[in-house]
Amino acid sequence: MKTNSVVDAARLSLLLNELRLPAIKVMWPQFAEQADKEGWPAARFLAAIIEHELAERDRRRIERHLAEARLLPGKTLDTFEFDAVPMISKAQVMAITAGDSWLEKGANLLLFGPPGGGKSHLASAIGLALIENGWRVMFTRTTDLVQKLQVARRELGLEAAINRLDRFHLLILDDLAYVTKDQAETSVLFELISARYERRSMLITANQPFGEWGKIFPDPAMTLAAVDRLVHHATIFELNVESYRRREAIERKRGPGRPASFATPANVAPD
Ligand code: ADP
Ligand code: MG
Repeated sequence: MKTNSVVDAARLSLLLNELRLPAIKVMWPQFAEQADKEGWPAARFLAAIIEHELAERDRRRIERHLAEARLLPGKTLDTFEFDAVPMISKAQVMAITAGDSWLEKGANLLLFGPPGGGKSHLASAIGLALIENGWRVMFTRTTDLVQKLQVARRELGLEAAINRLDRFHLLILDDLAYVTKDQAETSVLFELISARYERRSMLITANQPFGEWGKIFPDPAMTLAAVDRLVHHATIFELNVESYRRREAIERKRGPGRPASFATPANVAPD
């Protein structure tokens, strides 16, 4: 390299720092070499390095969104067997993961079903797919979030805490029914549901569809109001299947011959 171009390169590094273009800073020499060799017009070179910076930005953003989402590790749509839940169509779930038809208007998704039916898996996997499609998501056990909001309320910061959750297009509340009696005595969950109504979406999983919800809110009127807001714009999935865990265990007991991952109701209880 000639002295001039060394000086240029050093200056360029500083300038790219100043403009916060780290991907271009790392990659421009390689692009420049290729451009020189292949005789690219200047505009093509410029477009190539800018496209590279933008692609890196997207990648870093999705990485940040994945870190903040606290999803369940390893639970993806690829590893979810749709055959085990015949009442749910894979096509409908795939449409949901595009996000725009419901997250933009703050609609909700409710997953009901007995323990082991795949609610948490499906919820987390939907969250993952939405993040990959550019949305912001947070997964939490309902009782953990309620606890945090109660602390915020005691410190007179409930409204601010709920507002901070607005940055998530989707809040996944896993196991609503496990909210305890003393948690239900304050109405933080109701405040959250009201605040997000028709603005920001929630995905809620629960063992019981509404029947037991009286225990989750301080009084019947509030329970009714909460359910009303949640279902007003909602898609409801009922995973009324036998526990996937139990079916896997049965398959294991039967010994080798059939991999447990292929356990389906038909396999477990053949006609
Ligand atoms: P729930 O939240 O309804 O109690 P989970 O989502 O925790 O159930 O499912 C229990 C276990 O079974 C998890 O390890 C989950 O990954 C697995 N599982 C459940 N349903 C399926 C499915 N349809 N395909 C693949 N794995 C499943
Ligand atoms: Mg669960």
